[in-house]
Amino acid sequence: MLTLRQVSVSIHDKQIVHDFSYAFASGETIAILGHNGSGKSSLALSIMGHPRYDMVGSILLDGSDISVASPTDRHIAGLFLSLQNIPEIPGIRVSEYLRTIYNTHFARKHVADTKSPSPFVFRRMVEKMLPGLGLDPSILDRDLFVGFSGGEKRRIELLQIALLEPSVIILDEIDSGLDIDAIDILRQQIDTWRTTGKTIILITHNFHLLDSIDVDRIIVMRDGHIERHGDRSLVATIRTEGFK
Ligand code: ADP
Ligand code: MG
Repeated sequence: MLTLRQVSVSIHDKQIVHDFSYAFASGETIAILGHNGSGKSSLALSIMGHPRYDMVGSILLDGSDISVASPTDRHIAGLFLSLQNIPEIPGIRVSEYLRTIYNTHFARKHVADTKSPSPFVFRRMVEKMLPGLGLDPSILDRDLFVGFSGGEKRRIELLQIALLEPSVIILDEIDSGLDIDAIDILRQQIDTWRTTGKTIILITHNFHLLDSIDVDRIIVMRDGHIERHGDRSLVATIRTEGFK
């Protein structure tokens, strides 16, 4: 359960998010909708502790206050954010990147008897996950995100989630760059995450995605605050009436 209490976010003294309070329950998928510029990405980045934003209010993960924790500590605690814009990083191979984040994550979590797998063992483990995500093993030898299609970038993010098993998964406009096949994969992943009690926060404008995915709750943001929230019947209302 991720709980936000009166979270306000500002950047250069301009307030972007105002008094956002909401409890995101475990095992639920919550969609956040709203016009461009309504503060969705700023909220997501502030939840992860991005230093660009000044945040007041509190963020609790399963009852622990993580409001002032570093982004790394929030990640270790179980938050994952899929970025709206994914940077390309030449010089780092996908396989090395994945092994590094995996080892760092589990070493920092102090998981008893988790030994760092050798590159060979790790690769075998990752290769077993690739077919389910529609990825070819050759992608592991490429430079991180360099020249990747939108769909490939998103599939690598889904692979990171499968490896790290975060408890709260925030997807910021993950549909940008996803083709129909990839949306199908995403839907299957979300179904799996729900049954394992994860909290899924889906930031999107995409009604096709909202129709394909079993969303429990809807939040509509406007000018940095919650304008409306409700169950998934709100999707139909917004589809006919717009955001107003
Ligand atoms: P959304 O994701 O809903 O489109 P954003 O969170 O990206 O909204 O943006 C909300 C507001 O905050 C916008 O007015 C945007 O211009 C402003 N904003 C976001 N990031 C920055 C930044 N780094 N510098 C200045 N203004 C920003
Ligand atoms: Mg955004």
